[in-house]
Amino acid sequence: MRILITGAAGFLGSHLCDYMLERGHSVIGLDNFVTGNPNNIVHLAGNSNFLFIKHDVSNFIFVPGKVDAVLHFASPASPNPGSPFGYPSLPIQTMKAGALGTHNTLGVAKAHNARYLLASTSEIYGDPQEHPQKETYWGHADPIGFRSVYDEAKRFAEAITMAYHRFHHLDTRIVRIFNTYGPRMRLDDGRVVPNFILQSLKKEPLTVFGSGDQTRSFCYVSDLIDGIYKLLLSDEHMPVNIGNPQEISILQFAEEINRLTRNSQGIILKKDKRLGDDPQRRQPDITRAKAVLNWEPKVDLVEGLSKTIEYFKHELEKE
Ligand code: NAD
Ligand code: UDP
Repeated sequence: MRILITGAAGFLGSHLCDYMLERGHSVIGLDNFVTGNPNNIVHLAGNSNFLFIKHDVSNFIFVPGKVDAVLHFASPASPNPGSPFGYPSLPIQTMKAGALGTHNTLGVAKAHNARYLLASTSEIYGDPQEHPQKETYWGHADPIGFRSVYDEAKRFAEAITMAYHRFHHLDTRIVRIFNTYGPRMRLDDGRVVPNFILQSLKKEPLTVFGSGDQTRSFCYVSDLIDGIYKLLLSDEHMPVNIGNPQEISILQFAEEINRLTRNSQGIILKKDKRLGDDPQRRQPDITRAKAVLNWEPKVDLVEGLSKTIEYFKHELEKE
């Protein structure tokens, strides 16, 4: 296949590029570097199966030649208002990437009669009142909260994707991604994994927002990418959760990172840093992914974190 991947210079997009190229596909990577990093794809320069286009998905997209699949991953993804790369600092760009960017990429898929895959998110469930979250749950999201620029853009993105599927009969798929981590995450985007690992490697206390009893379920990047590829090859048009159901409180997560990095500086609770719509519990129900894709995660937290810590160590040594 000749595959268009938006957000190609980002964490997930760059792993997708590598994965597709390794499987013999050819890839057109598109990115405007708003939160991404050219270093994530620099190794692909000179690869005759890889073409890079620097472009903002919010504007009309022209792709030369045929396209067999479109994977729309371009969007800021960190909720941390303390980082210039978090979506609260990029509110309009985030809404445009999710809304206009989804419309434009659907347009590319329609023009080329290509299959389409949308990167959606567990955030569409908001601060969920159903636990664990199944795809049938409609969510509990604040339309005007500080996360709303992301959540509502992704909810719109899902709606317009289903509209193209139902009205134009476009061959679409929607993956609802739960917290995923691994090498090539931006060190300074403010998400919990880079924040905690950086703090621990610098032998600083870890900053837990609130009391740390909120939970997340962390999926290692290679598992996620396998699941996305299986979904792309499937005929499933309804949303599919992809994530690791191993749930952990943020406090326990911080303790685990301190243990793995042998950081003795402990943890500081930052009560005021936990903002209103920070979800209290998050855990994917992956029954559908197991049934439809025959997929489940394989990498456990200690193994995934150890690989990620190694990557961050190398990145810090370069600075
Ligand atoms: P990331 O910030 O590393 O990657 C996003 C990429 O999109 C960056 O390279 C950025 O420069 C690019 N981009 C943003 N807006 C753009 C625009 N207007 N035009 C062109 N490029 C643009 O984040 P990520 O974690 O790799 O997330 C990728 C996708 O996966 C996002 O759509 C995100 O919502 C989704 N997602 C990720 C997670 C996760 O845990 N990593 C969870 C749920 C959903
Ligand atoms: N968090 C934290 N300390 C940090 C960064 C994040 O305690 O330095 C918390 C945050 O409040 C949230 C959880 O960790 O409850 C996960 O945050 P992240 O930014 O990774 O993304 P989210 O899962 O909220 O989208």
